[in-house]
Amino acid sequence: MSLIKLTPEESLIQQARLKVCQTNECKKYVKFTMTCKPWPIGCGCFLPAKTRIMGAKCPDDYWVAMSEHEVVDSAYTNAVESLGELENE
Ligand code: SF4
Repeated sequence: MSLIKLTPEESLIQQARLKVCQTNECKKYVKFTMTCKPWPIGCGCFLPAKTRIMGAKCPDDYWVAMSEHEVVDSAYTNAVESLGELENE
């Protein structure tokens, strides 16, 4: 199976999104199939793939669609916050 290669910034977003699903705060993540519950409860999507699509969004807004610009901004903001946390240790 071939998937479109993600930039490092997109990869961080994808991992963060998947982690949100896996924490299952929404109670819609199905661990066995790695999917969101079927529609109309959830979107029914295979989440390791859906979370790679930057323009996709969680049906319950736990994570949002992002433009190319927003992906880079988010990665920059996270990097700055991480540096701040390191300085406070
Ligand atoms: S896509 Fe949204 S509703 Fe579905 S499992 Fe992930 S966080 Fe939950």
